[in-house]
This record gives sequence, structure tokens and C-alpha cells, in this order.
Amino acid sequence: MSAVLTLNAGSSSLKFALYRAASEPEVLRSGQVENIGPVARLSLRGGAPREIGPADHVVAVRAIFTALEGALKGQQVEGVGHRIVHGGKAFGAPVELTEEVLAQLEALIPLAPLHQPNNLAAVRAAQAAFPDARQIGCFDTAFHRGHPFVNDAFALPRRFYDQGVRRYGFHGLSYDYIAGVLKRDWPELAQGRVVICHLGNGASMCAVAQGRSRGSTMGFSALDGLPMGTRCGQLDPGVLLYLMAQGMTHAQIEHMLYSESGLMGLSQISNDMRMLLQSEDPRAAEAIDYYVFRIRREMGAMAAVLNGLDGVVFTGGIGENAAPIRARVVEGMDFLGLRLDADANAASAVSVGAGAAKILVIKTDEERVIARAVAAALAA
Ligand code: ADP
Repeated sequence: MSAVLTLNAGSSSLKFALYRAASEPEVLRSGQVENIGPVARLSLRGGAPREIGPADHVVAVRAIFTALEGALKGQQVEGVGHRIVHGGKAFGAPVELTEEVLAQLEALIPLAPLHQPNNLAAVRAAQAAFPDARQIGCFDTAFHRGHPFVNDAFALPRRFYDQGVRRYGFHGLSYDYIAGVLKRDWPELAQGRVVICHLGNGASMCAVAQGRSRGSTMGFSALDGLPMGTRCGQLDPGVLLYLMAQGMTHAQIEHMLYSESGLMGLSQISNDMRMLLQSEDPRAAEAIDYYVFRIRREMGAMAAVLNGLDGVVFTGGIGENAAPIRARVVEGMDFLGLRLDADANAASAVSVGAGAAKILVIKTDEERVIARAVAAALAA
């Protein structure tokens, strides 16, 4: 039996999962290193976090390796799968991370300056910790690569499109997982027109027809579309020109758009939907109103892209757990066939619709998509 490790590196966290390699991999252990920096903490699922001292991604991967030794029982990790946010124009499927591929992915850092360097740091750390394992990259952009031109381009001078200034779309591993669940459990719907709402700390929506992405709310960067925990979502580019004219630097604008905006920026209370739903502060209510309003607007846009709707899927921490948000998103959307079964919704059942279009709540599992890709590469 061989084992597969998946790594999902964020700016200050590194989620991991260990699987027994099979066409449908079986999870053995999972967990995360949080707070990568001066006082990092490692936790295995079901256990308490423990401090591992100062850690960069290399130290974090070594700590993960040590923490998993018991579960490995002497077996080799034969493949490591990495979530990589940007695959650019070139990568539409999982790929072996050779030096040549890594050089291509490094060249994409300017397109995803806050995510891509961490993803690649995890690859380097995994190469050092597991020198005999194959390293496989899985891309958040890949699910969207077949987009039609109108959903791939901005109306800028053509040379920018050729340079790669395009609407890539992200959260592709989550959409891929959900598309797989639909194919398995809702085959008729999988052949139809579905809007998937991935509502987590990051958030986007994807219009899917016959299992393929036709449009996404995220574009060139992970900032566009819906407001998120701390990211702004859709913004008039004129606002950026105004801020630059006011003397804000690139670094200040970047920090504000990625880390101080969205639910946090509007509420000035929290980026955590649970806290906002409990708060009695009117700013929390306004932040939630804005969040719901933008999702509803995009629902209309996605339905237009698809020429109608056969179903909607909610996923991500908010989509899976926040029944009041789901209720508010679909309220009055009978014209799209969306009507909620209030009891099923309150219970977060899988199927919560009572209208012509299905409304489903499905827990996403991006790690599993990566583990499957690694297992397939090992079996090939
Ligand atoms: P990430 O994108 O970091 O993986 P998640 O998908 O876990 O994040 O989503 C995190 C979000 O889910 C947070 O805003 C959190 O408040 C929200 N969330 C989790 N559980 C609930 C709940 N029971 N009710 C409302 N929001 C929830």
C-alpha cells in the first residue's frame, strides 16, 4: 500500500491530509499548521493544537512529516499533491512538478502575489522532506480553462489578453469536487445548468453546464466578484484610480483590498459570518445585506449565462452551515424556480429546495480532488 499526502498552503496556514492511495483514496489523518511565523501551531483533526515554535513552510512540512510518522507505520509517501492557485494559460489539468514546470509557475507569481509564493514554498519544502515522492500540482484555475472568450477576456487593448490579463476564475478544486458529487448522486442535474456558490472565507460562484464551467464571479485575481471575509469583491476600477491619485501606494491598496475589506471592512467587527449573524450592531447587518445582495445579483447573471437554471449548490463554510444566508439568497427567486423548504434548510439537509430547480447543500472536499489526481498519476 502506498500513501499520498496533500498540502494546501495559505498565507499563514498549511492544511494537510494523508490518504491511502486508491482510485477513491481513503483518508488516514488530516490536520493543519496554523499561524506560520514566530509561534506556529500544529493540530491533527480531533486533537488539540500544539506549538511547534517558529516555523516557515519548510519547518511546517517537517513537523507534518513527524506528526504523520505514526500513521504511516513505515510506509513511504509516494506522492505529494499540492493545491496551486494559479496555473495560468498553460495548465488545465494536474501536472508533475518538474523543475521546468516550477519555473513556469514561478513566472506566474505576479498574477497571484499573495498565494502563489506560499504554494511554491510548500512544494520546495515537500521536495526536501519527501525526496523520493512524486510532486503533483493541482490548479484552482484549471476547472475554468475552457471558458468562452467573452468570459475569458477584459475589454482592454488586445495585447493585455495576449499577455495573460484574463478572467481565470478560482476555487476550481472545490467546483471539480461538487461536479463529481453531482455526477455520482444527481446524474440528471449534472447534465443540466447549475450555479455553484462556494461561500467560505474566500467566495465565488460558478455557472456550470453539463459539468463544465461557463462563467465565474472571480476573474484575474482572487479579489473580484463576491465580497469575502476580508476581500472587497467587485469594484469599479475608477476607485483604484482615485485612491492612487490620493497618494496611496501599491502596497497600501493591496493590503486594503485583500485584508481590510469585505465583511470585515463593511462591519468593522469581524470577517467571521458567525459573529456577524449574532451581532446586534447595525454595521454587521449592513455587511450581511451587502453580501446577500451581491450573491443575488450574481445569481441572476449566472442564470443568464446558462439560459436558465436547473439547480443551485451551496458549499464552503458559510454555504454549508449558514441556513439564514441560504434563505435570504433565494428569497423571492421563484422566477428562477428557486423556492426553499424551510425545515430542510434549517436542518442543513442535502436537498433543501421545494421549487422547480433543485437547491443542494454539499460539503466540499478540495483535498480529495488533489488526492485523486495524485493517485491517478501514481497508477498511470
Ligand atoms: P476557508 O475558505 O478558509 O476554507 P471556510 O470554507 O471554512 O473557510 O469558511 C469560513 C466561513 O464559514 C467563516 O466566515 C465562518 O464564519 C463561516 N461559518 C462556519 N460555520 C458557520 C455557521 N455555523 N454559521 C455561519 N457561518 C459559518
